[in-house]
Amino acid sequence: MILAANFKSNLNRAKTAAYVQTLDTFCTQNGVDDRVMVFPPASALCVGGLHVSVGAQNAFAAKNGAFTGELAQDQLDEFNIRTVLIGHSERRHVIGERQELIAEKFAYYQKQGFEIVYCIGEPLEVREEGNDALLEYLEAQYEGIDLHYSGLIVAYEPVWAIGTGLTPTLANIELIHSAIKERTSRPLLYGGSVKKENAREILALEHVDGVLVGSGALEVNHFCSMIADAKSLHVHKERVKS
Ligand code: PEP
Repeated sequence: MILAANFKSNLNRAKTAAYVQTLDTFCTQNGVDDRVMVFPPASALCVGGLHVSVGAQNAFAAKNGAFTGELAQDQLDEFNIRTVLIGHSERRHVIGERQELIAEKFAYYQKQGFEIVYCIGEPLEVREEGNDALLEYLEAQYEGIDLHYSGLIVAYEPVWAIGTGLTPTLANIELIHSAIKERTSRPLLYGGSVKKENAREILALEHVDGVLVGSGALEVNHFCSMIADAKSLHVHKERVKS
């Protein structure tokens, strides 16, 4: 499974370094073999640990250049960062990034061979129109995206569930994930108000390959608890598959 923590604009450089160290020690001491990644804010980017990868929350589609306020590939290379989050709902809906720009970033970092965590998800008004409208909305977020890219990880994150404490029902997550899986065979994470109290039941779902967690992962011990849940679920998921 894949467990990813998005710090957004939280934690500074010192707190991020302490977090990564604690998390890495936890993973090593507990023999974790799931993928664990964290996405700190730009000012706290650092080299990952033995087990924990560090990724960027955003990056401009260029090696370097005149792009005021943006990070480009050179700034990621400095920390050996090879994973980038693209299309997060806060970039789409708060910052106003359009699909065209998102697809440009995707194509650039795909060409550079980066692992890309690509976020998709619908706002509440679309969800209220029903599952067909929802899936049609997601379809527009696939525009310009290579859904077969071997470095792709998809994160389904309903916009109305992010940071609100609300989540779809487990049956609905399962339904939407199985529909997304018809479009891509790449790993599929669920995100949106995942926390230590509900991570286990979400991770246990058949079509969920991991979670992308925001506020629920800001305390390193809470994120460790989710990683422990994933580890304990392996046997169970394997049994269900066979
Ligand atoms: C996110 O930032 O991707 C996210 C899912 O946030 P939260 O867990 O706080 O809803």
